[in-house]
Amino acid sequence: MNIILFGAPGSGKGTQAKRMEKDFNLKQISLGDILREQVKNKTELGQEVEGYMKQGALVPDDVVGRVIKEAIKVDGFILDGYPRNENQAHVLDQILQEMNKEVKAFVYLDSNEETIVDRLSKRRICKACGANYHTTNLPPKVEGICDNCQGELSQRADDNPETIKKRWQVFLDENRKLLDFYDKKGILVRIDGTKSIDEVYSEIKIQLK
Ligand SMILES: [Zn+2]
Repeated sequence: MNIILFGAPGSGKGTQAKRMEKDFNLKQISLGDILREQVKNKTELGQEVEGYMKQGALVPDDVVGRVIKEAIKVDGFILDGYPRNENQAHVLDQILQEMNKEVKAFVYLDSNEETIVDRLSKRRICKACGANYHTTNLPPKVEGICDNCQGELSQRADDNPETIKKRWQVFLDENRKLLDFYDKKGILVRIDGTKSIDEVYSEIKIQLK
């Protein structure tokens, strides 16, 4: 089974992906992670990607497509962070066809401004290991200190309500077409992402059965 998992920052995508990975025996493929990995390993693709990053330019869709094609050779995946726009969705369709694979569902964790602002403005991130906390839903044992590595927790500078609201609007505007694309294909699965982690996950399980 192959799945695309989609949602705004703060929609709980990462947490849900980890659970799905384990229960459905899928491999999570995060575009951000594989790009960083390619760059780190100095592969041919990685060097090309690094060139764009150094210029501060977006990595072109066809280059990203090649990276994705390599990554989805696995048997059963959750694609996270890709596709981000309609053009990338077309590129992915082409790749899947060439590889004789198909995606069962485009799972969209639907949220709203209030939820996203709450989750992101109360988010704290470990400076050392990158672990995520939430000051009320998932607080560390000792305030300001990471449970895993005793690193210092910090807040991202752009995780303030005003900036989060702006980013949320941009997210909605940019993604309408992408959602339409998968809706027309008949594989859009819309999940209420404002509910608790457990509720969201049981809804995902029901929908994917
Ligand atoms: Zn840590």
